Amino acid sequence: MGGVTATTPDISAIGPETGPGTGTEDTGDTGTATGPGFAVDTDVVVVGAGYAGLTAASGLVEAGFEVVVLEAGDRVGGRVHSRPSRSGVRVDHGGQWIGPSQLRFQELADRFGCERFPTWESGSHIEIRGDGTRMAYTGAAPERGPGIAEYERVTALLDRLAGAVDVERPWDTPRFAEYDAQSAEDFFRAQTADEDALERLALAVQGVWCAEPREISFFHVLFYLASAGGYEQLMETRDCAQDARFTEGADAVAHALARTLEGRVRLGEPVLSIRHTPSGVEARTGSGTVVRAHRAVIAVPPAAVEHIAFAPELPTARRGWVRHTPMGRVAKVHAIYDRPFWREAGLSGIATLYGDHPVGVVFDNSPEDASRGALVAFVYGDRLDRWAALPDDERRRGILAALSEVVGAGAAQPIEYVETIWPRTGWTIGGYECFVTPGGWASYGRAGWREPAGSLHWAGTETASVWNGYIDGAISSGERAAGEVVAALRAAGRTGMSASRLAY
Ligand SMILES: Cc1cc2nc3c(=O)[nH]c(=O)nc-3n(C[C@H](O)[C@H](O)[C@H](O)COP(=O)(O)OP(=O)(O)OC[C@H]3O[C@@H](n4cnc5c(N)ncnc54)[C@H](O)[C@@H]3O)c2cc1C
Repeated sequence: MGGVTATTPDISAIGPETGPGTGTEDTGDTGTATGPGFAVDTDVVVVGAGYAGLTAASGLVEAGFEVVVLEAGDRVGGRVHSRPSRSGVRVDHGGQWIGPSQLRFQELADRFGCERFPTWESGSHIEIRGDGTRMAYTGAAPERGPGIAEYERVTALLDRLAGAVDVERPWDTPRFAEYDAQSAEDFFRAQTADEDALERLALAVQGVWCAEPREISFFHVLFYLASAGGYEQLMETRDCAQDARFTEGADAVAHALARTLEGRVRLGEPVLSIRHTPSGVEARTGSGTVVRAHRAVIAVPPAAVEHIAFAPELPTARRGWVRHTPMGRVAKVHAIYDRPFWREAGLSGIATLYGDHPVGVVFDNSPEDASRGALVAFVYGDRLDRWAALPDDERRRGILAALSEVVGAGAAQPIEYVETIWPRTGWTIGGYECFVTPGGWASYGRAGWREPAGSLHWAGTETASVWNGYIDGAISSGERAAGEVVAALRAAGRTGMSASRLAY
């Protein structure tokens, strides 16, 4: 009986319903009411079927409550989206890697038997400097080179400062407001005048947050490091965030989780408005569907909250938070070859590029069996803005020229070329995640980050304390939000339809 509740949500103070979708449809045993304009009462409405929304829904169902998940897009998984390419390579257009300390994600992947394989990384990596200098190295960064010593000194300092961050109550961190008032750029420039080191630090910020150092709160940088377990965890491949990939794509876990929800997920239902009281909510979608519930879990990134009209308006702190947490700007471009030919020259396919190249970072994204070769190029921040504005053929030329500098002329002739420009994708409007601008944490963090607003609860990776910004963080955020809702509903004496059935 997915989606239907025995008790009627209290939305009496909201006022009479108007507009389309006011006829109630019994969703029957499958809970898969179809077609636009249905109306249903349930315990909890979940907005968004990314990893956070799916995990929240799953936790609520396990606790005996009924849910309806409203997803704007035509698929589950959100910022994690995998598809076989024309040449048969499974391409991860969004999130793809999993690391060993991402315990929530590891556990969920194990639960559904989703297999992983180590990220391809053997061989020499390449660094291309702004002046065209090309250097081979192994490990996270070259041991010697312009700016390396200063870069390492500053990143060690970042780790020391991140060690003091309270990831549950960030505002209790020593010097919280002082660090938050600065951009990462302010802090880096106060530390070093070495332009090469600054360039390396800038590429690190671009690679992790898809933003420029001038845009991001320095406190947010420290919070994020603390949340992931340190700088190396964010940057490195083996045993760190980029450790492994999924044989069947990183959204396989999301699809498996959605199947356990047995029809409670409704695709193609963008929530446009939410009316709410302290004890009830009513969500309306673009197709005229109306879902009334006791509580809502809103599992969309802050930047997407902007597109939902709330009545009454959100608390000012939440509204302020949303406005100070823009999405990063990133494109993921795959060039696919008949074989990973760069390995024959001892190259790993991993590269970092400075200067005028559109590409910042390259990885070998070949399939597990290496039946084809695949390079993935990341385009970030300001470079993304410039590159994305070019005509199709110039964009392609720019990427393939950069890849050719990394692995040789063979890169100019891929059998397939696939771009995903995230700021142009429908409901997410960027990636990898929303970052916090200077002053955002101190002004709005305490009351606006993830504090429920009456019957509205917040999930999404941006609300996570551990692995914030990652799939793992999305999962833990869904678990936390489900826990909040279950506690609130039980405190109000509600057990939910499934639980009351169990009780009898
Ligand atoms: C290019 C890229 C690379 C990345 N690489 C990695 C990686 O390697 N490893 C890693 O761990 N993480 C990575 N990430 C980050 C990771 O994908 C995200 O942290 C995670 O997927 C966020 O999950 P979520 O559920 O919080 O949000 P989302 O996945 O954004 O889910 C939100 C859902 O809500 C829907 N939605 C939005 N507005 C509405 C509305 N009004 N009504 C209904 N539905 C709505 C959206 O369509 C979406 O499905 C990457 C992200 C990108 C973009």
